[in-house]
Amino acid sequence: MIAVSMALLQHVTSLPLAHALRPRSCLAVSAPSRKLSASSPSRATHVDPHVLLGMTEPELQQVAVDLGQQGYRGKQLHHLIYKRKIKDIQEFIQLPQAFRNNLQEAGWTIGRSPIYQTVTAADGTVKLLIKLEDNRLIETVGIPVEVEKGAMRLTACVSSQVGCPLKCSFCATGKGGFSRNLKRHEIVEQVLAIEEIFKHRVTNVVFMGMGEPMLNLKSVLEAHRCLNKDIQIGQRMITISTVGVPNTIKKLASHKLQSTLALSLHAPSQKLRESIVPSAKSYPLEAIMKECKDYFLETSRRVSFEYALLAGVNDAVEHAVELAEMLHEWGRGHHVNLIPFNPIEGSEYKRPYNKAVQAFAAALESRKITVSVRQTRGLDASAACGQLRNEFQKSPLRIDSTDTSQSESGIAVAC
Ligand code: SF4
Repeated sequence: MIAVSMALLQHVTSLPLAHALRPRSCLAVSAPSRKLSASSPSRATHVDPHVLLGMTEPELQQVAVDLGQQGYRGKQLHHLIYKRKIKDIQEFIQLPQAFRNNLQEAGWTIGRSPIYQTVTAADGTVKLLIKLEDNRLIETVGIPVEVEKGAMRLTACVSSQVGCPLKCSFCATGKGGFSRNLKRHEIVEQVLAIEEIFKHRVTNVVFMGMGEPMLNLKSVLEAHRCLNKDIQIGQRMITISTVGVPNTIKKLASHKLQSTLALSLHAPSQKLRESIVPSAKSYPLEAIMKECKDYFLETSRRVSFEYALLAGVNDAVEHAVELAEMLHEWGRGHHVNLIPFNPIEGSEYKRPYNKAVQAFAAALESRKITVSVRQTRGLDASAACGQLRNEFQKSPLRIDSTDTSQSESGIAVAC
């Protein structure tokens, strides 16, 4: 959904973290009727049957047993994949050569894709392009923040789809088209790729890269399980962002995860929201707010409302007043994260002046709404979410005819 810049934490603004990244001096490190619904879970394959990454320990034990090994070999596989983070089956040197060969002959792979490109910003933010098996490119962003005593918090902003069908008006990813949902291992591997680049453990994960996570909820939940249980990232350190897809917040809440829900709101009224987020036409603001309230009641986790400030569009003090009134109507447990827009190529929107941002924040605070202003990270990295991919993969994305997830989930992709 939206990623980390207006994208460094795009969704957290619903601007993919990426939405906030703005090109300046980038250092290329390496080269070469619109119904929106996800009510019925997709029957598409969300799991590649021969990929080890994403599997639970019992599943890995079964793989070992099926290949004539004892069950404890599965535990070893788990250790090698998730603790040692080895990328090549032949490098599992703790395992017998015959077992390694058998795994490969049976078609098993670990499920790690090559890093195609990295771009590093002056503040240390790194944006990666990962090349998937079908040559599609996806973006992932690593955001390091030094915390007390020299320790580092490393946030991975991950993509959930190749492109995005939702076409939010401010978003480079939306402008680039949509191809397919990511499989669970393709989500998990983004976190491992960030760790590989930074040589540091990822501490936080935000689903704010390319794509709308709620349109690929099954894979997102499976990846969430793996990140939490296998890679040992705390649930509270994971944020799932959405622009809003009917009935999915409820579904997410039913899993009672201790993760933050970030709703990309961007407007205090239905009419204004529809002009910024076309998919909002099929999801009234009132219905979204009710689902957010239910999420809080189910999980006791505060909902974060992401609000991209677009100069002259939604950044007036009157908008802040309206927003505060609406949030109070829907109870407590709310937090607003303001994200001053960083222009993307071809966008009609402009970044508001700092004065306007401060006035907006002050109007919320004076009405007892907790508010934060997103610090724009990686502005000099490579523009907003989706722009780096668009640069390297010029052809517009098309729905992959082999991926039936869209039609089967009943999602009309044009918003
Ligand atoms: S178009 Fe997609 S990726 Fe971009 S902000 Fe909207 S939901 Fe997020």
